[in-house]
Amino acid sequence: MISVIKALVKFRDQRQWKKFHTPENLAKSIIIEAGELLENFQWKNQALDLENVKEEVADVMAYCLLLCEHYGFDPEVILKEKIAKNEAKYPVETVKGKSTKYNRYK
Ligand SMILES: [Mg+2]
Repeated sequence: MISVIKALVKFRDQRQWKKFHTPENLAKSIIIEAGELLENFQWKNQALDLENVKEEVADVMAYCLLLCEHYGFDPEVILKEKIAKNEAKYPVETVKGKSTKYNRYK
């Protein structure tokens, strides 16, 4: 993962784009790229362009990783921390096979 961040930073710095990559702009860019990803699923009968899905997933991840780099987050560490939180929030015996939101369990 670290080598991917290094490649993203190198790409950014060679173009002197760091000044544009404020946390706010990176967060906005994540959502914009997520919208582009969602366009692939906009219409029920549209043919799926998996190549574009792949590119948009990469765009979302690139901005997420640049935001991690900005704050010094280790992506693997924060993902593992979140998985652990979700394991506590969504116990298997309570949620298995259900999509109900965590605060609506009885
Ligand atoms: Mg894109």
